[in-house]
Amino acid sequence: VFDVLVVGGGPAGAAAAIYAARKGIRTGVVAERFGGQVMDTMAIENFISVKYTEGPKLVASLEEHVREYDVDVMNLQRVAQLVPGEGVHEVKLDNGAVLKAKSVIVATGARWREMNVPGEREFRGKGVAYCPHCDGPLFKGKRVAVIGGGNSGVEAAIDLAGVVAHVTLLEFADELRADAVLQKKLHSLPNVTVIKSAQTTEVTGSDKVDGLVYKDRASGEVRRIELEGIFVQIGLLPNTDFAKGTLELTRFGEIIVDARGQTSVPGIFAAGDCTTVPYKQIIIAMGEGAKASLSAFDHLIRSSAP
Ligand code: FAD
Repeated sequence: VFDVLVVGGGPAGAAAAIYAARKGIRTGVVAERFGGQVMDTMAIENFISVKYTEGPKLVASLEEHVREYDVDVMNLQRVAQLVPGEGVHEVKLDNGAVLKAKSVIVATGARWREMNVPGEREFRGKGVAYCPHCDGPLFKGKRVAVIGGGNSGVEAAIDLAGVVAHVTLLEFADELRADAVLQKKLHSLPNVTVIKSAQTTEVTGSDKVDGLVYKDRASGEVRRIELEGIFVQIGLLPNTDFAKGTLELTRFGEIIVDARGQTSVPGIFAAGDCTTVPYKQIIIAMGEGAKASLSAFDHLIRSSAP
């Protein structure tokens, strides 16, 4: 039986594992893919105290740090179900195995919803981006589009307008869904164009993005915009299907946690992009992982001898 079993091997899971192991308690990490989203990241310039790094390099350091401690790392294993118990919880894997733990930290992250149009995958990291906080400065002085007119899309457009030369915001519906105060701010900006009823159909380019093609859903006309970057803001999907019916989730599928990372089930904690904690970033996920781990330890010393 593990004292702390961490589900997920991204920045949140790695931080949780290190904090737990440093308490000298039996710690395990089960991850479908160690490193998580960081594995797919090219340049990282906002991991404070490291001016520049690359995803796979940061993942190698994370793994090296975790392996400094006595942590049982079970990589390439997918969790299918959580079964809470009195004092001991069960974590069922896809391969049928069952792991037992006195406390569980869920750190399964999230993934960006994709447009699923030709060129999107091909130009990912070559003009197609998902995170304005991460990649906005790479497009300084250039032309970009933001896909999606919800709160995230409009926030991204406002944010990017201060950095890039010009922003075109494309919304599929015939009106923006963002809060009125955001829309007002957006419309006050001189270098933003909003196009409604626009369905993006293709991302174009040779070695990097040079434009996008969209269909005007009102007229049926197909149009092209020349630009250097595309920020896709049509939703972030938490990897929490296995927790449905067990942990309290928001309607977006985020695990609801309190300020200590406690979920709706005592002894089960959560951290990082899979939770309700705002702003999905590496440095935030790590802090949340550390916090959930300290909370798990606190739970253990209150419920039994760790
Ligand atoms: P993740 O990194 O998503 O890790 C989740 C872990 O859980 C993985 O190990 C995964 O395999 C595992 N998992 C999922 N489901 C299961 C399951 N059922 N069973 C077992 N394991 C499971 N942030 C920045 O701060 N700076 C950047 O420059 C930056 N650039 C980014 C670029 C890209 C292309 C992307 C996609 C994201 C970027 N981010 C950046 C965001 C950052 O990567 C995330 O905020 C961060 O990785 C979240 O950490 P996490 O540990 O919560 O989740």
